[in-house]
Amino acid sequence: SPQESSAIRKGRSLSPAIEELRKVAALANDLRAALHDGHLHLCYQPIYDSMTRRPIAFEALARWTDPVRGSVSPAEFIPAAEESGFIGPLTEWVLLNACREAARWREPVQVSVNLSPLNLSQPALVATVERILAETGLPANRLVLELTEGLLLESSDTIQNCLRGLKQLGVELWLDDFGSGYANLGYLHRLSCDVVKIDRSFLMQHDKQREILGGMIALAQACGLRVAVEGVETANHHLLLQELGCDLLQGFLFARPMPPEQIDASLGLVAGLPFLDGAPIFA
Ligand code: C2E
Ligand code: MG
Ligand code: MG
Ligand code: MG
Repeated sequence: SPQESSAIRKGRSLSPAIEELRKVAALANDLRAALHDGHLHLCYQPIYDSMTRRPIAFEALARWTDPVRGSVSPAEFIPAAEESGFIGPLTEWVLLNACREAARWREPVQVSVNLSPLNLSQPALVATVERILAETGLPANRLVLELTEGLLLESSDTIQNCLRGLKQLGVELWLDDFGSGYANLGYLHRLSCDVVKIDRSFLMQHDKQREILGGMIALAQACGLRVAVEGVETANHHLLLQELGCDLLQGFLFARPMPPEQIDASLGLVAGLPFLDGAPIFA
């Protein structure tokens, strides 16, 4: 890489790999401090039912605004948390705050929380989720856990038991980023998932976009799953997905991730949604 060769030119003694490890370790340390000091917060992005045109769920997305580093993207700090063993406490914090927030929303609006594959290799996860639901009073069926497909291919007993335990609690399991990794269409019908979220890269690709998206949506629906597409950015995306019979929609066209106060503002109000027919958010 350019950085590597410039480091070599400058005669730095540290190998780029060690340099990288140090950076991740420093980031993870700062993240730990940020959680402790209250510099982490959650934003929520609505996911709409394409038929009723109302939000059925809000996805909780972690935000870190650091006094020194500025705003750090989850694409950067989630991997650092995973590598440093901090993803357990971080996920627990996200779950607690998201469930506490959602317990105040109008029924049956759900909250969805992203899980790292590593969370499912921790047998304690099921008990943690159960405790947080009890503590916050959020009914289990209003919590969605978003899983990534990579880990579902792993057939380790711990992960399978974890998934079964979560299902037994009554929470919903959604498959996130579908098609971005090891898309294995064959196992879709064997998953105990309720919704498949198709990765936004499929909207960004133009060659055979309609055919490929249409095929994926039809296949998932044939397996009895509902289909969400994330990353809906344009009216043309929206039109295409309506034509293809996509069940759920999420993207900047409708709403960006927002602080919880903005959700509150729309609770109980007949707030118009510009791109969704002016239908009320909450009846
Ligand atoms: P994700 O779970 O696939 O979340 C969707 C990401 O796409 C979010 O990015 C969201 O802001 C972005 N997005 C939504 N609509 C659009 C759109 O129309 N256009 C574009 N360009 N982007 C859109 P964000 O918040 O930066 O999060 C990135 C990833 O970081 C997430 O992808 C998720 O994998 C991870 N992440 C975020 N928060 C958490 C968390 O609390 N726990 C874990 N384990 N992972 C998290
Ligand atoms: Mg997600
Ligand atoms: Mg995710
Ligand atoms: Mg995704």
